[in-house]
Amino acid sequence: MADLAGLQTDAEKIGRAMQQEIAAAKGEDDAARIALGLLAKSNWLGWALPADYGGLDTDGRVAGDKVSVQAMCAVRRGLARGCGMADLMFVEQGLGSYALALGGADDLAKELMGSYAAGTRIAAFAVTEEGAGSDLSGVSTRAVSTDRGYCLTGAKTYITNAGIADDYTLLARVSGEPGDRSGLAMFRVPATARGLEVKRFEVMAPHPIGELILNDVQVDQRDLIGEEGQGLDLALGVLGRFRTSVAAAAVGFGERALQESLNHLKTREQFGRPLSSFQGLRFDLAEMDTRLAAAGLLVSHAAECVDEEREATASVARAKLFATETAGWVCDRAVQHHGGLGVRRGTVVERLFREVRALRIYEGTSEIQKLIIAKHLLSQKTED
Ligand SMILES: Cc1cc2nc3c(=O)[nH]c(=O)nc-3n(C[C@H](O)[C@H](O)[C@H](O)COP(=O)(O)OP(=O)(O)OC[C@H]3O[C@@H](n4cnc5c(N)ncnc54)[C@H](O)[C@@H]3O)c2cc1C
Repeated sequence: MADLAGLQTDAEKIGRAMQQEIAAAKGEDDAARIALGLLAKSNWLGWALPADYGGLDTDGRVAGDKVSVQAMCAVRRGLARGCGMADLMFVEQGLGSYALALGGADDLAKELMGSYAAGTRIAAFAVTEEGAGSDLSGVSTRAVSTDRGYCLTGAKTYITNAGIADDYTLLARVSGEPGDRSGLAMFRVPATARGLEVKRFEVMAPHPIGELILNDVQVDQRDLIGEEGQGLDLALGVLGRFRTSVAAAAVGFGERALQESLNHLKTREQFGRPLSSFQGLRFDLAEMDTRLAAAGLLVSHAAECVDEEREATASVARAKLFATETAGWVCDRAVQHHGGLGVRRGTVVERLFREVRALRIYEGTSEIQKLIIAKHLLSQKTED
């Protein structure tokens, strides 16, 4: 594989080109499809999938049945600098399918994941419900065993790619009541299944998202991923693998915002001199740069720990917490540096400000990352 820095630089180039291509899109679904098509055409989607399942070979960086977090982070950091929609479409192919690699029937996993790598099918990850956000043990969507497989009833919400996905990897309850962590299982639900309805809504930045309503949706036995009772572990296994890449994307958004600030402050003059000559703004630039560099190091460390199968829970949580909070702050400063231009629709910093916000919420909120870090600290032996 190319070195990680090269991968990141190339991803930024392709991301910037894509941002121009999607400018002419008719709505977010169209933009999503254009971005996906371009990623597939240039063979980038494979970085979000394990090599054994249609992904690209990472030269032994990880085992063939695993996706390389370091490679994925390099790609996301680069894509996010150029085009938020490209970053989103890239990662969803992996996030929405990784459960299949972890526990799916091998023939189904290979067939579907090859299509995600080629961009001929779209994947989505469906775990959240009205009553189950930060606490996934609250899942109440039911899966009842039938002659053919399972019948699913319930609803999911905040599902990225709802309405454009071909398949959902979905968490449902096979036994027990909401709150019981052991009665869950994961399923592949094809979008064409009878009884599956999608209700779309909008969030603050372009993002295909909505609710799934399951009215007696029948799936086959081979659509059960892993075994009954393994659902929560599979869902957390997926999140554990992909969460660091959210942090990487955040760093990418922040780096682009810093670049925009530098360009603007060097060229915009007030009081007869460039804004970049004012010390208060120079302090800002230095702080943005330093915080982003620190976030980048936390991301690299966490990605390395995951790929090398070292204990990574706290490192991943630190990276997600610090990188997403930092990127939010950096994008806010960049808006401020642009004055009125910063809030005008169509400027890059205005877009980045909206795009980066949700990263502090999905795949585990900042507060949940703090709880993970504190739990880790409190579990350590203290010295007298
Ligand atoms: C743009 C976007 C895309 C998404 N895409 C997907 C997707 O593709 N698939 C999917 O399944 N889900 C998706 N989600 C859902 C996302 O994972 C959840 O929104 C997230 O886990 C938080 O759950 P919640 O919204 O129910 O908030 P809640 O869990 O209700 O939390 C509300 C607030 O309370 C805080 N809080 C909760 N518990 C605690 C605690 N114990 N201590 C301290 N504070 C706490 C939270 O940090 C948060 O600030 C997406 C969300 C967004 C915004």
